[in-house]
Amino acid sequence: MAEFKNPYAEEDPFVKAHFDCLKCGGKLWEYAIQGQMVCEDCRAVFRSADVFDAQVQT
Ligand SMILES: [Zn+2]
Repeated sequence: MAEFKNPYAEEDPFVKAHFDCLKCGGKLWEYAIQGQMVCEDCRAVFRSADVFDAQVQT
């Protein structure tokens, strides 16, 4: 597996989001470039908008 070269390495693209994973309840990290969030536990990927909507509705 080739090592992934991150063109944004100097600016950490991951921002810790104040949301929980919709699947396992783990911490989500917002992937700022894609507008997505990824769970640090189960690696599930969600669109930021979907996560936001789900959290607001609770
Ligand atoms: Zn998860």
